[in-house]
Amino acid sequence: MKSTTGAYGPVAGAAALANSNSLRVQARDSAACQGCRAPKESVYHLLLKCRKGAVPRKALFKGLKDAGVPRPVAGERHPEARLFRDPRATSAILQFLRDTSIGARQTPEETQRQDEWGWEELEEAEQMENG
Ligand SMILES: [Zn+2]
Repeated sequence: MKSTTGAYGPVAGAAALANSNSLRVQARDSAACQGCRAPKESVYHLLLKCRKGAVPRKALFKGLKDAGVPRPVAGERHPEARLFRDPRATSAILQFLRDTSIGARQTPEETQRQDEWGWEELEEAEQMENG
């Protein structure tokens, strides 16, 4: 399943949220990761674990460091949620999404649905993955 419809809108915090919403939808509705064929795709996986993101992830962590955002540490609960909540992390995350083409899957419909974004649902998805 590949989508090439996505073009980047204005680079803003809202775009990051829209992208993350897109990721959440993907995590719930699709099974395997497109990047590395891991059995479950999730925001956590894409941001921190996916092999596809190995190189861009170095830039992500550098961007986080430059922005004064603590990088995820082992054992941290939902580090991806913390990063998406932190406005200082937005530009580094956006760059990561660009580098990995993850954000390219965003559709206009999903952009409009960004108000539906909910962290509780993300945590639900994470629990499903971990359980
Ligand atoms: Zn993956």
